[in-house]
Parts: sequence; C-alpha cells; structure tokens
Amino acid sequence: MAIAHFPDLEGKVVAVTGGGRGIGLATVRRFVAEGAHVVVMDLGMTVGDIGEADSDGWQRVSGELHADFADVDVTDEDAVASFATALERRLGPPDVVVNAAGIVRSASAEDMRLKDWRQVVEIDLTGTFIVCQALGSLMLRAGRGSIVNIASMSGSISNYPQKQSAYNAAKAGVAHLSRTLAGEWADRGVRVNAVSPGYIATELTAGVMAADPDMGAQWVARTPIGRVGTPEEVAEVILFLASDASSFMVGSDVTVDGGYTVW
Ligand code: NDP
Repeated sequence: MAIAHFPDLEGKVVAVTGGGRGIGLATVRRFVAEGAHVVVMDLGMTVGDIGEADSDGWQRVSGELHADFADVDVTDEDAVASFATALERRLGPPDVVVNAAGIVRSASAEDMRLKDWRQVVEIDLTGTFIVCQALGSLMLRAGRGSIVNIASMSGSISNYPQKQSAYNAAKAGVAHLSRTLAGEWADRGVRVNAVSPGYIATELTAGVMAADPDMGAQWVARTPIGRVGTPEEVAEVILFLASDASSFMVGSDVTVDGGYTVW
C-alpha cells in the first residue's frame, strides 16, 4: 500500500479513543510515524510495554510504539472530563481527535437484549459525543482542530443479514452527529468529518466470523475489490482527514469499503 506523507501533523497533539488495537492502533502508529504526540484513550493496550501510571493515570508506552496511554472509558463522562483537563495542562489543547472506540453485538431485532442495545449505543454513539464535547470544547477555545469519527458503512446500508440493529442505528447516529458538529463548529476553526469503513480485518470482525464461519467468505464475495480491508487502509484516510490536506472538508462521511456499498 502506498503511504502518503502529512508533514503538518509533525508535533501535533493527537488523542485516539480505541487506540489500543485494530483500526485505532493502526491510526496511532501512522500519527506516531508522522511525528505527532499521541495519547491513546482505551481500556487496554495490545502493544508495547506500559510503564507505571503517573498522578494523572497516564502511562508511557515504550518499545515499538512511543505514545502515551490513558485508561479512559469513553462512556464515563467524569473520566473523559478529567482526561481533558490533564491533556490541556500537559500538552495543550488537542490538534486532532479520532474516535475509534466501538463495539458490536449481533442478534435479530426480536432477540436483541435491551442491555446489549444500550451498551452499543452508549459506547459507539454516546461515547463519541462525550469525547467530542469534552475535547472539542478545548479545540473551540483554541480556535483550531480536526475531529475524525469512525462511523461505518452499516450506518447507511442496513446490512440486515448481520442482525446488528443497535450497531447500525448507533453508526448512522455517529455519521449524522459528525455532520451536525461540523456545521456548528466549522466557523470556529474546528473541522469534523467521519470515515465509514466496510469490512476490515480486526478482532471486531473476527468475533463476528467466529460466530458464523461462512460470514467472511460472504463478505469477500460481495466486495467488488475481492477482499476485506486492512486497518492501515482506514488509518490512511483518517490521517488525510486529520491533516490540513483536507482543509475544505467539513461534515464529510468518507466510505472506505472496497466497493461494498456500490451494490
Ligand atoms: P476493535 O474491537 O479491534 O477495537 C476497538 C477498541 O475500542 C478496543 O481497543 C476496545 O477496547 C476499545 N473500546 C471498547 N469500548 C471502549 C470504551 N468504552 N472506552 C474506550 N475504549 C473502548 O475494533 P475495530 O478496530 O475493528 O473498530 C474500530 C472502530 O471502527 C469501531 O468504532 C468500529 O465500530 C468501527 N468499524 C469497524 C469495522 C471493521 O470491519 N472492523 C467496520 C466499520 C466500522 P478493549 O480491547 O478493551 O475491548
């Protein structure tokens, strides 16, 4: 895969929710490669050695990845607010925020447990709002910044055989929330955009495939490019939206799906 270079991201302060693995982690790696100072907000970190937590609860990741890690549940508004305070004090207002934390639960609509529905909506949609509000406020005060929210192609097509009503509704919400925030904040220097991936090889999709082993073959068969995507292919688009290279993009929802939704 050809890699673009975004020199304006060097030295930028970047917060990535869900950056401990999958698409979020690939995104963290790319920002670090551009020389950005990245802080991961996640429940855990799957790479590197994590040092002792300091007084803000931050841990330095060493080894293959030089970034900070903060154990922050995006649904916990107090934890996110404390994180925002610490971030501003330590590094200043963020230049970039990427919301990649997300979960999926699969069950037919009639069998979907309300507990699962609520958890998906709480993490995928409300968590995205909580982080946008807390960190976006710092950006608004600074008069600059770029937010990239990960929605999904499932927010615009029902993909009904997957039986993911909560996920689909939450992801449609993320895309439309992004448009709404984009409209409210653009004239104050903060751009908000979304990325909508198709099937990407991560633990999230591995979990769905484990429950239905034929599913992966069906995904590939329906994807015009003939394969699932990689986290790196999504990260590349996220970096573009984060950087000044996309300076006139406001409220866009960029599909990265190998053609799945052209059907
Ligand atoms: P992964 O499951 O690999 O990674 C998601 C990360 O989010 C995990 O590290 C997880 O932590 C973290 N997380 C979950 N809940 C919370 C929380 N409450 N607070 C903080 N962090 C949390 O998923 P992907 O990388 O595949 O997905 C990333 C995003 O992309 C998600 O929003 C997903 O919906 C979206 N997406 C993914 C697609 C795909 O095909 N993979 C397709 C379309 C969209 P932990 O490890 O502790 O669970």
